[in-house]
Amino acid sequence: RTDTAEPKNGPSGSACYDTAFGRNGTEKATLVMLVRNSELYGALSSIRMVEDRFNRKFHYPWTFLNDKPFTDEFIKYTSGLASGPVEYAVVPEDDWSVPDHVNETTMRAEMLRMAKEEIIYGGSLSYRHMCRFNSGFFYNQEVMRKYDWYWRVEPGIELYCDINYDPFTFMRENKKIYGFVISMYEFKDTITTLWDRTRQFVAENSQFLHANNSLDFLVDGAQPSKPGDRHLGSGNYNLCHFWSNFEIASLEFYRGEAYSRYFEFLDSAGGFFYERWGDAPVHSIGVGLFAPKDSIHHFADFGYSHAPCSRCPQDDESHATGRCMCNRGQNFDTDGYSCLPRWWKVAGINKGTESI
Ligand code: GDP
Ligand code: MN
Repeated sequence: RTDTAEPKNGPSGSACYDTAFGRNGTEKATLVMLVRNSELYGALSSIRMVEDRFNRKFHYPWTFLNDKPFTDEFIKYTSGLASGPVEYAVVPEDDWSVPDHVNETTMRAEMLRMAKEEIIYGGSLSYRHMCRFNSGFFYNQEVMRKYDWYWRVEPGIELYCDINYDPFTFMRENKKIYGFVISMYEFKDTITTLWDRTRQFVAENSQFLHANNSLDFLVDGAQPSKPGDRHLGSGNYNLCHFWSNFEIASLEFYRGEAYSRYFEFLDSAGGFFYERWGDAPVHSIGVGLFAPKDSIHHFADFGYSHAPCSRCPQDDESHATGRCMCNRGQNFDTDGYSCLPRWWKVAGINKGTESI
């Protein structure tokens, strides 16, 4: 490797030189992982992957969050793999407990019913805390306050291609708010009343609905909203969401009034506990309604896997410059359960008929 290496072009067309090697991350951004001590090996595997494919050239800090103190072992091995600064933080109890307004007897009864019906994670309280935390608290953690951007990393993920540019810079320069790789349908039984609550929130707070929103991604047959069109209409949520185990996004968006008030409204309804609202539909609906459509970005050049789904870049460029190690034919993008073709349609991305 030499300093005279050819610049690689990111999706913005901005040149990203290999001389970035040795520099610290330049954006106010962090790689963030909420993780249990018991997931150490999955965490190490993800850190190694993200370091090898991206961060060894950029040295962004890692932030590890946990509802329990990290063990010395966890800290020792994870910090040993990170090329940037590391920080470990325990989530405050209020951000990981059942709030007073939730009736625990009702909650327990619903959890039992959902477990019996074999709804995924239906009987788990810790999963509910996790979803609520990722919906409304991660961006206000003390250790996160110094950052404007985050890249969410989960244990056991894979990155299939080199990321030769800084995606945080890409987001900032292109006025992006939310970046994703995979989009799919949510389990209906986990969010029975989420859309009704959302409709109610928007009816009472219509000023937050962005004039150029993505309602037509979230609701089939929704009339594209016009400026001054400040309601969600009567259509139902089609369950499409961005898969939130990977996210590169703006923390400022979540901290802003629209999303914060939306989360508080949802939290007061208790659906994170009575039902099992996931952070993925909550983020997706929040971004889809309160941010402009063109601020949502699909990272088509990222090869990514989180069990049981994976996707591989379909373009030649990524494979030529990104040392991709994935089979283009094994790609969730156009799976029957994928919402990406719908995203392409509403975002006006022309894929040609052969790839849909
Ligand atoms: P799935 O991807 O929906 O199957 O859910 P995961 O089990 O992967 O959980 C999502 C994220 O939250 C992962 O990063 C987990 O490590 C983390 N997570 C889930 N439950 C807990 C928990 O009880 N404590 C902590 N500290 N992290 C958790
Ligand atoms: Mn996961």
